[in-house]
Amino acid sequence: MNIKHKSHFTTLYNICPVCGYDGLDEPPYDIDEVPSYEICSCCGFEYGFDEEGYYFEEYRDKWIKDGWKWSSPDKKPDNWDNIKQLCNIIKLMPFDKMNILQARDGLLRFYNVNTLFIDRNDVKRMEPCYLHISEVFKVKLKENDDPKLLITIIEDDKKRYDMPISLMFLVYQRLIELQPQKENVLEFIYYLEPVSGPDWEEEIDAMKKSIAEDNMPEAVGIALKVDYNKYQNCE
Ligand SMILES: [Zn+2]
Repeated sequence: MNIKHKSHFTTLYNICPVCGYDGLDEPPYDIDEVPSYEICSCCGFEYGFDEEGYYFEEYRDKWIKDGWKWSSPDKKPDNWDNIKQLCNIIKLMPFDKMNILQARDGLLRFYNVNTLFIDRNDVKRMEPCYLHISEVFKVKLKENDDPKLLITIIEDDKKRYDMPISLMFLVYQRLIELQPQKENVLEFIYYLEPVSGPDWEEEIDAMKKSIAEDNMPEAVGIALKVDYNKYQNCE
């Protein structure tokens, strides 16, 4: 899956949206999304050119798979930290100005870094960035009171399955909070059943029972309490 829109990237920073290199001569896109046509010294992406065939994520995967090579090796700092640089990408996302859908796009842009080609220790080093971006998403979710945007996120996830499950729990729950209707609780159950296996069987059965008894306040109450971290919290 590729996110083609650049519009939710801030134009304030001279940071590459592909590799996070922060030594560009100017921001890669201006406020009207006009590209700079600069070539990134690090990953070699040309803003305004390479996106014809490659989008950021695809190019990034290829660059990582090919060994994190610098296009201008003379610019590579001696103590270069690839992961620290990659985490610069989140600085490009002006979360304060985003709605929940744009925040979702920003999140996926980062989550979709293909960790298949990244050393296991490096994946671990990326965790603080994942956490940071998840926290921002959670705040945006609480602020959002437009059910339509949440339904879009749910429908997109049904097609692509690319959202972290823990965050999808919260998306369904926010929707139920805004619209405590039977169909939304049922949607949540349909999501939970395949992703959770037996983990939330008890909650699923209780919700189904309440719905069968036409006790929506109870079903909603249970739905809002389904805790993704329940097993971690027990430890
Ligand atoms: Zn780059």
